[in-house]
Amino acid sequence: MLLDERGRVSAAIEHFHDSNSRSLEDETEEETYDNHLADSATATLNREIDYSLEENSGHMLTAIDGALTRIDQGTFGTCARCGKAINEERLEAIPYATRCIDCQRLAERG
Ligand SMILES: [Zn+2]
Repeated sequence: MLLDERGRVSAAIEHFHDSNSRSLEDETEEETYDNHLADSATATLNREIDYSLEENSGHMLTAIDGALTRIDQGTFGTCARCGKAINEERLEAIPYATRCIDCQRLAERG
């Protein structure tokens, strides 16, 4: 179970390293928007990463580190704000998410 979650986070780390520089370049060139949307999961993940980068630029690796720590502590998958379980699909898209979707929406609204 824990190893499974750790593998999931590790995959996210690799995905982030893989797409980070490329997606940042794409951001500066609107014309490349025409790339076929390979899969919507990736698009969603990138959008969440963009949000995160806006909020605390460059702290993605810290967030992923935090996810690994939470796996060790057994609190992985629990919302840091309300303490409820984070939606499974959300965790698959964003394994390092610290809040459930409701709390995240509240945070984004301000
Ligand atoms: Zn919550």
